[in-house]
Amino acid sequence: MKNICDWNNCFEIGEYKAPIEKDNSKNFRLLCLNHVREFNKNWNYFAGMNDEQVYNFLKSDMTWHKSTQSFSSSDNFFKVLWNNALKDEFDQSKLKNHYNHLSQFKFDHKDVKAFGILGISVGLKWEKIQDKFKTLVKKFHPDMNSGNKKYEEKLKLITLAYTQLKNTYRKKIDTSSKYTA
Ligand SMILES: [Zn+2]
Repeated sequence: MKNICDWNNCFEIGEYKAPIEKDNSKNFRLLCLNHVREFNKNWNYFAGMNDEQVYNFLKSDMTWHKSTQSFSSSDNFFKVLWNNALKDEFDQSKLKNHYNHLSQFKFDHKDVKAFGILGISVGLKWEKIQDKFKTLVKKFHPDMNSGNKKYEEKLKLITLAYTQLKNTYRKKIDTSSKYTA
């Protein structure tokens, strides 16, 4: 029995394993040679990042699980990453109602690291975090820096930090809504 490559719109034979869960080798998707190369390129793109961050990102719906988006190159992959990060998925009114609770939030070490990467104080209002992120994206976007890889790396870190905080804030706000609704 032959398997078809699991990559979007690819009908080649899938005979190379690509991990789905990094720490669990039992779970993998089968890809053709070209796409396993592509997969490895994107995987290595996050070299130097904390494994959990990379894994959570790859697992999230921002990556290839979204059938409308294809990742033909790591550039494209990265573009989708920060375009998604730029999208404001928060209900702003809900967020404003919960500013009072921000001081009660506890942030874990990953959050604290993310605040540090963005160069902002821990527990800053979401609005301010967004402003800072947009400023940093403009500053470090490769298009603004003649494709300088150094800035691209910086923007990658910033985007992952921002995504980390976005998930944290969403979780905290959802939790506090339950008690104040
Ligand atoms: Zn393929």
